[in-house]
Amino acid sequence: MTIEQMKQEVCHYAKQSYAEKLFAGTSGNLSLFGNEVIVITPTSVAYETITPDDMVVIKPDGTILEGKHAPSSEWRMHAAIYRLKPEVRAIIHTHSPYATAFAVNNAVIPAIMIEMVPFLGGDVPLAAFALPGTDALGTEAAKALSDRYACLLANHGTLAIGDTLARAHTRSIYLEDSAKICSIAIGNGTIKPINQEHLAAMRG
Ligand SMILES: [Zn+2]
Repeated sequence: MTIEQMKQEVCHYAKQSYAEKLFAGTSGNLSLFGNEVIVITPTSVAYETITPDDMVVIKPDGTILEGKHAPSSEWRMHAAIYRLKPEVRAIIHTHSPYATAFAVNNAVIPAIMIEMVPFLGGDVPLAAFALPGTDALGTEAAKALSDRYACLLANHGTLAIGDTLARAHTRSIYLEDSAKICSIAIGNGTIKPINQEHLAAMRG
């Protein structure tokens, strides 16, 4: 994939995530890693009118190679995850409301539905609190993502990773969906997570 194609893909999923209400206002950010560069959404540009030319191309150390805007203020978090998890090629960070509510509770989203196993790796762990805009936010997330495809960032939001943006995006959708259903189920009464034996059987 060329850098131009990477910009188009990042822009496409930024607009789609906004349309799906995974992002509110100018919150949320996403990136792709390839050709030794990170293509990331800009900071504070409205998703309704964003174009591939608004995407920012940076080196992993933050040096701006292309772009008329500053990169997302969370570029250090993205760079830390690519550094610590070399198999990851795409990252989506949201403040999607149902999942972020669990992050505000500092709670894990338990493995309550079968699709959480293939799409998310099981339950959704909580990364320890770290200040926004820091490398530490990425290093804490990388710890939580040791055997998962998505995690919560304490008092902040969500993160989903993948080898493609399409996969990371699907995981963001399942993360928010699982959190929504879990919230409704908690309102109905006691929830019953999938037991360890069944989780092991589903993981094969
Ligand atoms: Zn955020």
